[in-house]
Amino acid sequence: MPEDFICQTCDKTMSRDLSIIIPHTETHIIDVIKRKHPEWVETDGICKRCYEYYKQQMRAK
Ligand SMILES: [Zn+2]
Repeated sequence: MPEDFICQTCDKTMSRDLSIIIPHTETHIIDVIKRKHPEWVETDGICKRCYEYYKQQMRAK
């Protein structure tokens, strides 16, 4: 049975290979996510879709 990953920021369960651990150099993205999801820790990782979404948010500013 494949190990599932639950994305804390969108509550979706997906295969672990769709998850990303955000590099600690990307603190600006980590900060934005934590502001919206205080319970989230960066070592939990995030799904690719959320990562792209938050990256997009940064660019929109
Ligand atoms: Zn997600």
